[in-house]
Amino acid sequence: SVTLPKPDRRRMLTIANQKGGVGKTTTAVNLASALAVQGLTVLVVDLDPQGNASTALGVPHHSGTPSSYELLIGEATANEAIQQSPHSERLFCIPATIDLAGAEIELVSMVARENRLKNALSETALSEIDADFILIDCPPSLGLLTVNALVAANEVLIPIQCEYYALEGVGQLLRNIELVKSHLNPDLHVSTVLLTMYDGRTKLADQVAEEVRNHFGDAVLKAVIPRSVKVSEAPGYGMTVLDYDPGSRGAMSYLDAGRELAARTASINAQEN
Ligand code: ADP
Ligand code: MG
Repeated sequence: SVTLPKPDRRRMLTIANQKGGVGKTTTAVNLASALAVQGLTVLVVDLDPQGNASTALGVPHHSGTPSSYELLIGEATANEAIQQSPHSERLFCIPATIDLAGAEIELVSMVARENRLKNALSETALSEIDADFILIDCPPSLGLLTVNALVAANEVLIPIQCEYYALEGVGQLLRNIELVKSHLNPDLHVSTVLLTMYDGRTKLADQVAEEVRNHFGDAVLKAVIPRSVKVSEAPGYGMTVLDYDPGSRGAMSYLDAGRELAARTASINAQEN
């Protein structure tokens, strides 16, 4: 298979949208898998107490497993919490356990409460692997967990479901991104928008896609993720769709999205050099 260019520097993306069920977790694990299949080393940080990304990547995440919770409260390092996904030697996960459900409240009284994930994922703290990409899967809220993710990463990836009310709530997310940018992380920007659960048979899907492209311009990937049963079945087997059915349209579309995302590395580096 194709080998994608290694970014000069590690890229970290927060996958955020406070609406539930828009494809954040599905995108985190499948995009990560798509990048790993094409030769890059990728870490998924599961920041949702439900632990769906951990399940899909086939890594244990029962209560007490060193996880993103221990990372945030300073009881484990990234090196200690990292696990390899059983399906790929280049795909890793820092899982989420149910313990994370209390973190939002515990964090409130902690020192540097917005910077804890950033510090925990520093290259020194995460020296066990040479990650090209880190993808952070956020919970469906804009609380302190998501703020930690927005401070840690410079890039935001917004998945948008091609359905009614697709852009509902996105304004709120963008305002929060601006707030974090002005107070905590000046480099933060929406680098990527991905259209998910696209059903080509409906006019609505095309209308939503057009509206999103008008709104976000070049940030929107050309690759669009179709609605596909294979994509929704894969996590039940502890797999991404790339392992579950590599030839499926779902798998192909995530491979395309990964290729596009990685190609932007070259242009980002060119702009900065
Ligand atoms: P979020 O993390 O934003 O809450 P999920 O990624 O968990 O959203 O997706 C919500 C539901 O939609 C899940 O049941 C998932 O399997 C399903 N789903 C996500 N993407 C697709 C797709 N492209 N085709 C079919 N089902 C999908
Ligand atoms: Mg999710």
